[in-house]
Amino acid sequence: MDSIAPTIEDLEELITGSYKNPNLKLIREAYNFAEKVHGQTMRDSGHPYITHPVATACRLAEMNLGLNVVAAGLLHDVMEDGDVGREELEKKFGSEIANLVEAETKLRKAYYKGIERYSENMRRMFLAMATDVRVVFIKFADRLHNLKTLYARPIDKQRRTSQETLDIYGPIAGRLGMREIKGELEDAAFSYAYPEDYLKTLEIYEAHITPLKPYVDELIEKICQILDEADINYTSVHGRAKRLYSLYKKLKRKDNDIEKVHDLIAVRIIINDVADCYAVLGIMHNRWAPMSGRIKDYISQPKPNGYQSLHTTVFCDRGHIVELQIRTQEMHELAEYGVAAHWRFKETGSNKVKTVEWMEELAKIQKEISDKKDYLDKLEKLKIDIFQDRIFVFTPKGDVMDLPEEATPVDFAYAIHTDIGDKAVAAKINEKMVNLDTALKSGDMCEIVVDKNRKGPNADWLKFVKTNQARQKIKNATKKTMKGWLREIIHH
Ligand code: MN
Repeated sequence: MDSIAPTIEDLEELITGSYKNPNLKLIREAYNFAEKVHGQTMRDSGHPYITHPVATACRLAEMNLGLNVVAAGLLHDVMEDGDVGREELEKKFGSEIANLVEAETKLRKAYYKGIERYSENMRRMFLAMATDVRVVFIKFADRLHNLKTLYARPIDKQRRTSQETLDIYGPIAGRLGMREIKGELEDAAFSYAYPEDYLKTLEIYEAHITPLKPYVDELIEKICQILDEADINYTSVHGRAKRLYSLYKKLKRKDNDIEKVHDLIAVRIIINDVADCYAVLGIMHNRWAPMSGRIKDYISQPKPNGYQSLHTTVFCDRGHIVELQIRTQEMHELAEYGVAAHWRFKETGSNKVKTVEWMEELAKIQKEISDKKDYLDKLEKLKIDIFQDRIFVFTPKGDVMDLPEEATPVDFAYAIHTDIGDKAVAAKINEKMVNLDTALKSGDMCEIVVDKNRKGPNADWLKFVKTNQARQKIKNATKKTMKGWLREIIHH
């Protein structure tokens, strides 16, 4: 399949190959409709316009999203480019597809004009997501194909699209736990947004990662052998090289010192059983010494986006340092294709668990995952229940903080930085002064007024804060001032 200009036959083949009950009639109808609308229009790349919606639909089909979403992918540009009305779409394809196409069309109205528009963009994306997360999936697929043909666009368009991808789409894909999509988006945008850094990073990649590949193959074989000997059931063992943009960002954090990056190469060990994950971790440590401080249990303590896995970095043969990622197939799928099992996991997963408890905890998590087997189906209908008890609040710079419902400006301040929380004296919500105990709402823009000379937080805040983070930090800080106060008394 030509991923730049796929045909309807490619799409149909893709669907026949991976869907249980493929409704090809719907797909054909959507295609015929879109083809008629786009007519003889050509893309800057010299391809007929229709190749773009087909490519978008192909990516959605690869993600195994419902055929309504795939059809909406085929139709996603007909309102904008073809003056097709909502009623017409609804009559032909039903209200669900019409809703998706309409929402997608609205979403693009605010296009990126640099950082001052950033906040507005984010807000729109999040609001769209809160209505129907599938709109954002279509947006991702649309953007991925636009990036593939970005070479044919004028240079200012290249800059804007790539920057917007890195600033907005990447982080949102990450937030949704869609690592695969995030990686694809970022790598496709990188060379346009930062051409020089891209070339430099590529050079580093080729000097340090490419030569490791034969070694990784060897290592994978070795790991399979060890698992076989230990009688562990596993689904697969495979290597992954760090993605280019991710490498670039990490290097920036590590003073551009490649020696300080320990996950250039990771080997993923996909296990059938959650309990076996821990067993495998032990077995691997028995064979190769772990680097201290690098063992991470994201199974009992998932990342905020729901990501679960065990990580460890080991000293392998011949002086190689390799990160091992151990997880179940379900965790793996969630990690790659996401949508966050997110806050639901918080309840079961985030408490520190002791020996006996952790077994129960694991069983709970496992059950939850097995209930989620058809999560891609559910995802289809998911009107982002996950976000229901959370709110998104924006900083004046457009960063998004996710907070529990009823969170206050003090929670918000501590979510940004301890110092901001400690020194907060007042807050503005949507540019109006409010009390620090005012409940924030999704989409609010909140600004914290700080007083640098303020000694620390007010213990009374404990009465209304909603996040543990804020509570903990207020307690710590008030304890500290107490000590400071005692010290002062003693010294005088
Ligand atoms: Mn498009």
